[in-house]
Amino acid sequence: MRLLSAIIGLLALPLVTQPAAAKAKAERLYVVECGQRTAPNVSPWTPGVNVGKPIDFVDTCYVIKHGSDWMVWDTGLPDAIVSTPLADPNAWRRTNTLVGELTKIGIKPGDVKYLAVSHSHPDHIGNVELFPQAMLLVQQAEYNLPNQDGSPRFKATHPVTKLQGDYDVFGDGSVTILSTPGHTPGHQSLLVELPATGAVLLSGDAVHLRTIGTPRVFRLSTSIRRSHWLRCSGWPRSEVAPENWTGS
Ligand SMILES: [Zn+2]
Repeated sequence: MRLLSAIIGLLALPLVTQPAAAKAKAERLYVVECGQRTAPNVSPWTPGVNVGKPIDFVDTCYVIKHGSDWMVWDTGLPDAIVSTPLADPNAWRRTNTLVGELTKIGIKPGDVKYLAVSHSHPDHIGNVELFPQAMLLVQQAEYNLPNQDGSPRFKATHPVTKLQGDYDVFGDGSVTILSTPGHTPGHQSLLVELPATGAVLLSGDAVHLRTIGTPRVFRLSTSIRRSHWLRCSGWPRSEVAPENWTGS
């Protein structure tokens, strides 16, 4: 009986809700255009619809300020395309360099501490060696993926941390790499907590277009499925930023 009274007493205690600890934030996210192209037919990215419809793509890089540290996410098409454009009118083109964009922000490539790429397709790794000192954060499965001719996709001398899953970049939950395989074996996305915007998921090529998030299409890829799950359940205020997001 004494035990029962004690239990009832415990149940009667007022529930004290501890205030949730404030989440750490990255200070700022810069959206940088790293290439453009007009594809004559968007249907490969929207299976079964939009056959023959052209679309303008933007290749986007991102620069993140965290305290006194800087991080670059995706490096776009090689800067050399600015001075030596590709001949194919449907190919990627660039009107600015990543170095030039960093200058506008007020930093140099040597200021960048962490460099991560969503995956190793050419429109995402074109300027990795602009940052030879930066720690490259890449999934081991992507790092080990050879080019078609068998050559490695990353320079062996580049400092690298080979990841096997999610990774908290600054150790405070403000910037987190999320493993989203599917588009490539080691595709990854980046979750950034921002002071005003809230959580933003930079989805790389897991989500090419805003319109791709229909149930019929997102079943195609583990990457997209996880991105969709994150948007729906984990971070209610978050935005999934597709590759062609320009910060709107
Ligand atoms: Zn890709």
